[in-house]
Amino acid sequence: MMSKGLLIVISGPSGCGKGTICEELLNRNKSLSVSVSATTRSPRKGEEYGENYFYMDEKKFQEMVDNDEFLEYAFVHNHYYGTPKQFVFEKLKKGEDIILEIDVQGALNVKKIYPEGVFIFILPPSIDELKNRIVKRGTENLRDIALRLRNAYEELNKAFEYEYLVINDEVPNAVRKIEAIIIAEKCRAVRQ
Ligand code: 5GP
Repeated sequence: MMSKGLLIVISGPSGCGKGTICEELLNRNKSLSVSVSATTRSPRKGEEYGENYFYMDEKKFQEMVDNDEFLEYAFVHNHYYGTPKQFVFEKLKKGEDIILEIDVQGALNVKKIYPEGVFIFILPPSIDELKNRIVKRGTENLRDIALRLRNAYEELNKAFEYEYLVINDEVPNAVRKIEAIIIAEKCRAVRQ
């Protein structure tokens, strides 16, 4: 009998390095894939439609909501983000593992409807380091940086609702820890 794939949900405040960690996880583990979300935010320099996100206006996003096309969606840092459900379920049915890199609200909604998922929260080594990373990244203006930092405190408060906490001190360490979590989850005798 083929077992279902793992749904691996990764969250963490803006600037915690979850994007880099996910990229490295995908590079090192060819059997893993990541779900591409829909969003109403504009592409950043270097981002591509279909690769980073499916960029769309609010009308199109709302149409997808109305057609029940999302596994979850949330309003994050003033924009809508949602996980298209069909792609995720197809992967899981085929026995393939899939990563969702989504915010805390979305993750906790997924936990309600899919508790057998693996929920991982990435922590920055410190709040100061988090600030440095968001500012240094240089992709947001000052107002957005302030908003992302405010939201970071709220997200950090929810960290203990996750099953696993991984501190991103160095990306390779964090990646190794997540790989260990995935291996352990695959060895579980019983899932919920
Ligand atoms: P960014 O704008 O930096 O790419 O993403 C902002 C936040 O939205 C991040 O915390 C990211 O994890 C989250 N996010 C990205 N895609 C989704 C999604 O499909 N659903 C939810 N709930 N959050 C998402």
